[in-house]
Amino acid sequence: MSIRDHFPYFQQSTGIYADSAATTHKTQAVIERTVEFLTRDYATVHRSAYRAGNNATNKFEATRQKVAAFIGSPSANQIIFTKGATESLNVLATTLGNSELLSGSEILVCGSEHHANLLPWQQLAEKRGLTLKIMPINSAGQLEVERALAMVTPATAIVAIAQVSNALGNEYPIKRFIDAAHAHKALSVIDGTQAVAHMPVDMRELACDFYVFSAHKMYGPTGVGVLYGKAELLDALPPYQLGGEMVAQATFSRASWQSKPLKFEAGTPNIAGVVAFAAAVDFLAKHLKTIQEHEKTLAVNLYRGLKAIEGLRMLGDFGQGISSIPLVSFILDSVHHHDVALLMDKASVAVRSGHHCAMPLMDVLQVSGTTRISLAAYNTVEEVEAIVDALKKALVMEANATVETVSDAELP
Ligand code: PMP
Repeated sequence: MSIRDHFPYFQQSTGIYADSAATTHKTQAVIERTVEFLTRDYATVHRSAYRAGNNATNKFEATRQKVAAFIGSPSANQIIFTKGATESLNVLATTLGNSELLSGSEILVCGSEHHANLLPWQQLAEKRGLTLKIMPINSAGQLEVERALAMVTPATAIVAIAQVSNALGNEYPIKRFIDAAHAHKALSVIDGTQAVAHMPVDMRELACDFYVFSAHKMYGPTGVGVLYGKAELLDALPPYQLGGEMVAQATFSRASWQSKPLKFEAGTPNIAGVVAFAAAVDFLAKHLKTIQEHEKTLAVNLYRGLKAIEGLRMLGDFGQGISSIPLVSFILDSVHHHDVALLMDKASVAVRSGHHCAMPLMDVLQVSGTTRISLAAYNTVEEVEAIVDALKKALVMEANATVETVSDAELP
């Protein structure tokens, strides 16, 4: 069975899907696990004495164990389920803001971050009177690593950076940032949302303080995210929301909390989503090496194909031919990024256009947006060729249309 055969979507669809950085398709096993759980095993978790409730709790907790093993977390209780990377980062920024854990006066954020890893820190800085500093991205879309590292000083409270940028595909040397943060007693927050489906990660090796990601970008369900944290930090953080599930004891005047991870999981979670997420983790754990090799081949072919197109400028590390992540953001001299996406759609190729939830980065690059092609395990080399061909044809069509419009306008 090929990797692509795991995805029933591609048995139905004849188009090319090149927007996996936004969200990925689901494996058959993820779909089956969802249906099976909802049809046969559904019940709430963590609060029932009856068998079905215990069974659901066991399945839910089994996913936590699998996720912990997958990212090398020392313990499953350091894995907190949220509804996505966005919520994970908001939980962090809010609870850190309500804690005694921050020492230092500056928050450092990488200049290419997704809004989800920028706005919560912006808000925290405002609330706690800290200064938000942005690590520099140059006009080619590359991080100025040495300058950025030099910004980590004894004044730094938090260093927040993605492992892989969703807007540029850049893979950042996060270990260096984590070590620099720790050398100055700052906290390190890594947004692994665009990394976990493409490369192995290990919390023991990275030794970051916090790491976040979303299940739906790793062939799993929507509405499930992960917040990993070091045990002592999670212990020291206050809860994010208050209510059921997270409470240990409550009277009308006081309450005490469960310990991690339930302390951060108030309310009824996305039970079926978490249960089915286990199938996505199994899939990745089994195939990640193969996927990584395959995606490298896709990236090389995509780079070669796009490089040959006149007037097309690829941004970031990918544009320098030094990225093995199959994600490229590009701009064209002659065509607006939205028009590129529309023209590609006519050829049944789904690509993303716009600011990719990184508006300040677009200002730095002095563009209103880019077109982004992002591939995943299920894409093929033939599809990469077809994408490049479709783009070339679209550009010819667009050029002819422009000429026609001009000559029409010139008619008496
Ligand atoms: N960080 C990065 C790097 C992302 O690509 C995304 C999603 N585009 C997010 C955070 C937010 O993820 P979600 O929308 O699943 O919460």
